[in-house]
Amino acid sequence: MKILLLFFYLTALGQQPDSLDKQVNALHDSIISIDTHNDFAMKYAFPEEKTTVKKGQVSFELMKKGRLDAAFFAAYQAQGPRTEEDHIRAKERADSMLTGLQRYAAENAALGGIALSASEIKALKAQGKAALIMSIENAYCLGNELRLVAHYYNMGVRMIGLTHNGNNELADAATDSITEHGGLSGFGCRVIQEMNRLGIIVDVSHASRLACLLAVRISETPVMASHSGVYNLKSIPRNLTDEEMTAIASRGGLIQISIGRYFLSTQPKSEVGLDHLIEHINYVVALVGIDHVGIGSDFDGGGGVNGCEDMGKMKAITRALLLEGYSRDEIRKLWGDNVLRVMEEVGKYAESFQQF
Ligand SMILES: [Zn+2]
Repeated sequence: MKILLLFFYLTALGQQPDSLDKQVNALHDSIISIDTHNDFAMKYAFPEEKTTVKKGQVSFELMKKGRLDAAFFAAYQAQGPRTEEDHIRAKERADSMLTGLQRYAAENAALGGIALSASEIKALKAQGKAALIMSIENAYCLGNELRLVAHYYNMGVRMIGLTHNGNNELADAATDSITEHGGLSGFGCRVIQEMNRLGIIVDVSHASRLACLLAVRISETPVMASHSGVYNLKSIPRNLTDEEMTAIASRGGLIQISIGRYFLSTQPKSEVGLDHLIEHINYVVALVGIDHVGIGSDFDGGGGVNGCEDMGKMKAITRALLLEGYSRDEIRKLWGDNVLRVMEEVGKYAESFQQF
């Protein structure tokens, strides 16, 4: 009897985690996992520039290790002055970062490639390769020129974040002290229409509450908050209120939870882990359902918590979701099917313009 008990004890102790690992790996064989935000591009394009933000959390190698199939790589820049000269410089920097991402994909073609659509992400997964989707964080680089939206679409950009921490020509930012446009400017509205026409996802992370709600209303296709958290769990202007999340979801959009202490918890960084991430996910699921939630790490831009410090650790999230009781179908949606659905809808809407 004692031997039998010992056997059960050892089974519980030793084999359960192993079988959970097998479940996690089997799940990743059959799903597509997508992370909707990282800030790899700036350091890659401008390696000589100093930064205080932790880097090295993003690469095709780490994606493979963590079973992450696809990621949106953002050409990010902080908001600067808004003169014509500064807008030209912002465009040049965005162009350099996007060209840098193209170079990274070309130089690492054995491991991954650029994806321009949901079907290209699926095709790369079938070849065992990582998919890099290009995006822009802060439409500062558009200045006040509508024609640049097509320029970035043609470079391969498939999502644009309206703002960063300061107001720009398009919209008010969540963390700016001044409400300048009442949410969106007229130019911001026209940019959203142009993004809809071309097939670019509107990203409302960093936008002010009014800008977010207006963007949801104006956009003909679902919008995404590519890296955010829940305001009711951590009350910072950058996190989303129930009103914003309900509005985003009501039009088919997505709330992508960031893997960073800044978004998730007021506890010291050393004490923030996957439990906090799961708490935010659970909140969004309870509020708007599993069809409207996902992951946007913010790696290389301040992201990373205990247990998920870089892209090589993404499987730990899947494990935590299984332990939390999420079904395989729910995890499939959360990890990638929701994003694929939005990409397909945005692409289809743009195609409808090309027929006329
Ligand atoms: Zn950001």
